[in-house]
Amino acid sequence: MKLKNIIIGSILIMSLGCEQGTTTKKEENTPKNVILLISDGTGLSQISSAYYFKENSPNYARFKHIGLMKTSSSRQKITDSAAGATAFACGVKTYNGAIGVADDSTNVENLVEIVSSRNIKSGIIATSSITHATPASFYAHTLSRGEAEKIALGLVQSDVDFFAGGGTQFFNKRSDGRNLLSELKEKNFSIDTTSLTDLSEIQTSEKAAFLLANDAMPPVEKGRGNFLANATELAIQFLSKDSSNFFMMSEGSQIDWGGHQNNESYVISELIDFDDAIGVALDYAEKDGNTLVVVTSDHETGGVTLSAKSKTADDGTEFNDYNEIGMTFSTGGHSATLVPVFAYGPGSEEFAGTYENTEIFEKILKLTKWKVEGE
Ligand code: MG
Ligand code: MG
Ligand code: ZN
Repeated sequence: MKLKNIIIGSILIMSLGCEQGTTTKKEENTPKNVILLISDGTGLSQISSAYYFKENSPNYARFKHIGLMKTSSSRQKITDSAAGATAFACGVKTYNGAIGVADDSTNVENLVEIVSSRNIKSGIIATSSITHATPASFYAHTLSRGEAEKIALGLVQSDVDFFAGGGTQFFNKRSDGRNLLSELKEKNFSIDTTSLTDLSEIQTSEKAAFLLANDAMPPVEKGRGNFLANATELAIQFLSKDSSNFFMMSEGSQIDWGGHQNNESYVISELIDFDDAIGVALDYAEKDGNTLVVVTSDHETGGVTLSAKSKTADDGTEFNDYNEIGMTFSTGGHSATLVPVFAYGPGSEEFAGTYENTEIFEKILKLTKWKVEGE
């Protein structure tokens, strides 16, 4: 009898233990915060350049869960940034040029709208104008990416809690005469148009905006400094300050521009800068334990390869020097190649595999449960 009781007892304890284990695992897969880092116009070759041209080990090397993503838009095989970002922000395939609207031109709910209805904070950062196609798709709805003034108005009307980037002119030198900087102040934003501060300056503010250039921020090569990494860190601190949960998107906007220009040093300097921002996000996610970091790109730009430098030998013959690599470009536009997705944190294994760009949105919502069916 005694032995039987012990056996039954052990089985009970074992099964309880198993159940507990399952419950804990489920909770571990529900991230409280999501940091989405987008490198505009970045394929595998641009990422590879960090392994050859960055002095220290790239932060890209810290990910265990990696996937591949198809980027085509609803009407074009090759996407632009507007359709690419709308796929991430709203989960729909749309036409090139569309900001937060579906292929039939109707508005689609974006991640900022979804999280703000649940009292989750949101932040948007870009090294372009904050009204540029990629950041715009996360808070605005316009039929065309060119409508920067309308997009700026969309930002004021949105529930974004923190933003940093360029584009001041679309707020204070507008054709409709409105001063959106005053309107932001009325919505309890602290606004800085000269430089990023540290947290102590904005600690007591309800919302914070940094508009640090008339249009785009300068390239790294022309003095942008550590803006992207610093703004990413400041946003994390600001959005999490009252133990709030948050969603944020941080964009390395200009890797794409270097690709369009077929400019090797422009691409590499911007890519390395973006890799620094990845480091900031991963450092936080490692400490926090409840933060999902997703790093991807809207498409590749330039058709970049890292090829052997072509050289001429003493006897006049041309050869490929396998000791030296450089970027060669096959186009001044975007390309259709699949782009990598890197994920870290709770649920990150969900991002392995090959899938459409709209699945970034779907996977984030599936994991976080920020949008429940029927709500
Ligand atoms: Mg793009
Ligand atoms: Mg962009
Ligand atoms: Zn582009």
